[in-house]
Amino acid sequence: MFEKILIANRGEIALRIHRACREMGISTVAVHSTADADAMHVRLADESVCIGPPSARDSYLNMPAILSAATITGADAIHPGLGFLAENAAFAEMVEEHGFTFIGPSPDHIRMMGDKIQAKKAAQQTGLPCVPGSDGPVQGDADALALARQIGYPVLVKAAGGGGGRGMQVAHSADELHRAIATARSEAKAAFGNDTVYLEKYLDHPRHIEIQIVADGLGNVVHLGERDCSLQRRHQKVLEEAPSPALNVAARERIGQRAVMAIRQLGYRSLGTLEFLYQDGEFYFIEMNTRLQVEHPITEEITGIDLVREQIRIASGAKLAFVQADVSIDGHAIECRINAEHPETFRPSPGTITNYHPPGGPGVRIDSPLYAGYKVPPYYDSLIAKLIVHGRTRNECMMRLRRALSECVIDGIDTTIALHQRVLADPAFIDGTYDIHWLEGRVG
Ligand code: ADP
Repeated sequence: MFEKILIANRGEIALRIHRACREMGISTVAVHSTADADAMHVRLADESVCIGPPSARDSYLNMPAILSAATITGADAIHPGLGFLAENAAFAEMVEEHGFTFIGPSPDHIRMMGDKIQAKKAAQQTGLPCVPGSDGPVQGDADALALARQIGYPVLVKAAGGGGGRGMQVAHSADELHRAIATARSEAKAAFGNDTVYLEKYLDHPRHIEIQIVADGLGNVVHLGERDCSLQRRHQKVLEEAPSPALNVAARERIGQRAVMAIRQLGYRSLGTLEFLYQDGEFYFIEMNTRLQVEHPITEEITGIDLVREQIRIASGAKLAFVQADVSIDGHAIECRINAEHPETFRPSPGTITNYHPPGGPGVRIDSPLYAGYKVPPYYDSLIAKLIVHGRTRNECMMRLRRALSECVIDGIDTTIALHQRVLADPAFIDGTYDIHWLEGRVG
């Protein structure tokens, strides 16, 4: 097992990884920008190294600075967390070339799944059903028009290098398609430096269902059920729950087994998530994430498995500590992503936290780097806390979550707590019938 892990990230996820390491008796090295010198992930770590100025490009994405920090502190392994360098195959390669272990899958798998066109091809080859669409990149407008006529409008133009819901445009007609391609290309070029786009049928009432996979690369692959991430704004997740209110035991088992088969065929090792859209009883693969996900705690709550610990164990060469038959789903869990944003306009709201009181009591977990006096910097993602609640049933879970949200005090900045309270009071959420477009229709 590793003795020292460098955590190449910040915020709640850096804290989450630190906590797993601490419980495993592994020392931690935090890296931070000058803006994060007082951050909780730095305060809790055993050692810390400043790796650059506030801009992520010069700090959390600064590969040479991170590798130097690992060298001078004598770390054995680097955990990339999520976002930043977590899905950067070149970084994973550099980490290994410098003699450290990358806590994640092989660079080849990261590269394959990082290109969504390649990922869909790979998924198709393993027999997973995909959303109907172009087989590869869209070559020109004429090509796209012909395909759109064939699959039928509306269609979705998506970026091959996409992520975070960016570079995605819906077109309802041929006229709109020209514009959608141009906009998606320029958005993708600016965000990912790659203007390759592809086409998919735009599904009008799907749910987003994703399957958590754990694979040790020694032949053991286990799925930990699904997470339902249909509550989205601008294609980004707002609240997640597990299990999905839309699946029954048979559907869960069917998609879980297919996901395990696919991962086995790919020879994949580490944590991974296969994302699907689910509509009218059918699953359609959309992408695979080759890293820990923001919403991983709801799976931990209903399975009792520490995903970060497993991820670290696998990277150290250990065998999975459990088999499929050991996994059982216990109750229901919901996670609310609390962002430093206005709950109606979604305007970012960095600033000083004047008062902080996290909720507690039965079934309540908070993953957050906040403390009173902490200054939320304006440079990074606006996620400041994850409120995760577990209950024996979905109803108990919702009751607890309403109670926990009402206890939560984060003063000094705007947060999206009120948005979650509105969602938890809405009949369509309460009866579990919402789809991926539902929230968008309410909040704009
Ligand atoms: P990203 O990597 O940017 O998150 P994804 O491919 O995972 O992109 O899709 C993000 C979200 O966009 C999905 O959860 C879903 O809400 C929406 N989406 C993606 N593909 C489709 C589609 N073919 N039809 C309808 N909505 C889609």
